[in-house]
Amino acid sequence: MKLPKHARFATVCLHAGQEPDPTTGAIITPIYQTSTYVQDALGQHKGYEYARTQNPTRSALEANLAAIEGGRAAFAFASGMSAIHAIVTQLSSGDHVIVTDNTYGGTFRLFDKVMTKLGLQFSYVDTSDPSAVEAAMTPATKMVFIETPTNPVLRLSDIAACAEIAHKHGVFLVVDNTFASPCLQRPLELGADLVVHSTTKYLNGHSDSIGGAVIAIQDDQIEWLRFIQNSAGAILSPMDSSLVLRGTKTLALRMVQHTANGVALAEFLSEHPKVTKVIYPGLPSHPQYELAKRQMPNGCGGMLSFEMASLEDARQVLNRFKLMALAESLGGVETLVCHPASMTHASVPPERRAAIGLSDSLIRISAGIEDIEDLRDDLRQALA
Ligand SMILES: *Cc1c(COP(=O)(O)O)cnc(C)c1O
Repeated sequence: MKLPKHARFATVCLHAGQEPDPTTGAIITPIYQTSTYVQDALGQHKGYEYARTQNPTRSALEANLAAIEGGRAAFAFASGMSAIHAIVTQLSSGDHVIVTDNTYGGTFRLFDKVMTKLGLQFSYVDTSDPSAVEAAMTPATKMVFIETPTNPVLRLSDIAACAEIAHKHGVFLVVDNTFASPCLQRPLELGADLVVHSTTKYLNGHSDSIGGAVIAIQDDQIEWLRFIQNSAGAILSPMDSSLVLRGTKTLALRMVQHTANGVALAEFLSEHPKVTKVIYPGLPSHPQYELAKRQMPNGCGGMLSFEMASLEDARQVLNRFKLMALAESLGGVETLVCHPASMTHASVPPERRAAIGLSDSLIRISAGIEDIEDLRDDLRQALA
């Protein structure tokens, strides 16, 4: 198995980092469930000494993820949050960070409740407006951290514009690419310095693992991430590394179906008389439709949200779904629905929810890869 030099995306997903097992020829990278490695003689080992530092299953996944995102190196962590935490450890007390205002709740909690205690400062700004990023720059700013599309109102930030502003000020840009996946959005090609993922979502894609990853291109950042991964030790387990590797093999195929179902559900809901608003970046009604076409040329994926006339209407609909499962999380093969105001965003104060356009009657859908007719039938009966 030799990956051609100019292999296309689906081929890279399947083959990058995947060598047959040297001892048996097993086509799938084995789960190296070991804590240590026996050395031939004092000072003579095969490149593996202790499994927090090196594990072949994790290394295979990291090589795969680096290739998929178009980066030079990837580091797999125990969760998306530990991946984000590893990025923040590059900073020092007194440093300032610009963050997308409606960033993932766990990211906000880590920054606001933990990192401020250690002397970091954060400004939460509407990064969908590049001039707001520019205006938030201070002499202490070291990092811009954006999420696009955001959860659950699917607001986009212009990655190339944010990268240009960040670099003009000598700071680095991080993009949380969890909602889009590298299949639909290529932050490093648009100028970002680091990409972070919750592999829990589309990369693993099968709702059976928690994990995270950082993909990097610059030597100093690669060196630091390798150092902190080993020093803090929030590594992804061999079993989970194997699960995510299985997931990325079908990423290209899955994203086509997630996107097709996302579009179809968004169109169905747009025409439904009981639905007052549909939010999907791939619909011409989305305020950033033009940016979506430019930044996500292969489609906008499976995340969409819609509003009912009242909270009571939303509650009734949510309780009537049969095929779609009421659950937090997203990006799995099965369709999930949730009520952000009372579930994922319950800890966000009501006035902040209102400010980002998250109403109490908003329902979020993570479209899975079921037959679209069955998903439409379920929506139709739930809304009836
Ligand atoms: C889920 C999620 C995270 C956190 O990832 P975990 O794997 O749950 O720790 C971070 N960012 C985004 C956008 C997410 O959806």
